[in-house]
Amino acid sequence: MAVVGWIGLGNMGGGMSANLVNAGHEVRGFDLSEAAMAAAGTAGVKLVGSIAEAVGGADVVFTMLPKGDHARAVYLNDDGVLAHADPRTLLVDSSTIDIESARTLHGAAAAAGFRFVDAPVSGGMSGARAGTLTFMVGGESHAVEDAGVFIKPMAGNIIPTGGATTGQAAKICNNLMLFINLAGTAEGAVLADRLGLDKQVFWNIASVSSGDSWALRTWYPVPGVVSTAASNNDFAPTFTVELAKKDIGLAIAAAKGTGTPLHIGEHVEQLYQRLIDAGDAGKDCSIIVKLVDGTLEQQQ
Ligand code: NAD
Repeated sequence: MAVVGWIGLGNMGGGMSANLVNAGHEVRGFDLSEAAMAAAGTAGVKLVGSIAEAVGGADVVFTMLPKGDHARAVYLNDDGVLAHADPRTLLVDSSTIDIESARTLHGAAAAAGFRFVDAPVSGGMSGARAGTLTFMVGGESHAVEDAGVFIKPMAGNIIPTGGATTGQAAKICNNLMLFINLAGTAEGAVLADRLGLDKQVFWNIASVSSGDSWALRTWYPVPGVVSTAASNNDFAPTFTVELAKKDIGLAIAAAKGTGTPLHIGEHVEQLYQRLIDAGDAGKDCSIIVKLVDGTLEQQQ
């Protein structure tokens, strides 16, 4: 049994930390949100009142925070992880953050004598609860190997990606492709309907043809076709518009730094901005179909 410090007990961190409790570890959790803390407490996480209390004496610390700003604050501030953890503690950031923030955290952790890995995840809230997430883990090889032991109860796949920040790089590129695929799926689905195709017949064809994608099989934006899709549930969020816009923005920032043109990615980012401007930031990202079927205009 290990002692685990956990910072960030939200949609993802709540389910993930519960799986470490179920694996027999003592998990000391901290979050700024009382609701997130209360939910984690019922799952067996030992609730503490500060980052210092969560990380003191821990074998490993996980962070699962919204953005780079939050991760930098949690690690680098005077009341943060680096100031209060023992350097023998392994540090694992599973948030999806920008490459520059990840680089800063790797540098600061190494300078303070810590092992640190960037280990973002794919698989959504359902994967977090089920313990089937894919982890993409970047850092020094011995730290990546050590992290795998703690990650195992939360993971379906653990994939070492190379050196510092390569986990974030993999996640950012994956999600760029995901949201482009989703936008394309929405266009194909609406056009198929208007050309007189039955929605299920068209989905049956595309899912075994070259139009197939994870977005099509999991998030089909037309209701009554795929059971896991938010379109069945008035687009209640499984992955919000806001997070989708954030993730495409991370890819665009990384692309600028490497001189890579992202013509399609930049266009899809604008589509998500339109949804945010229309008040749909908290809805599921598959609501992008509203920009194709005309219902966004009706809403405004
Ligand atoms: P969330 O907003 O539900 O949870 C984040 C939590 O961090 C919140 O409870 C917030 O109160 C807490 N927090 C913020 N600042 C803090 C601080 N200084 N100290 C302590 N707690 C703090 O977000 P989420 O959906 O759990 O996502 C977390 C990360 O995982 C994001 O980077 C997201 O992009 C990524 N991700 C999300 C999904 C998904 O399906 N939701 C899937 C894969 C990856």
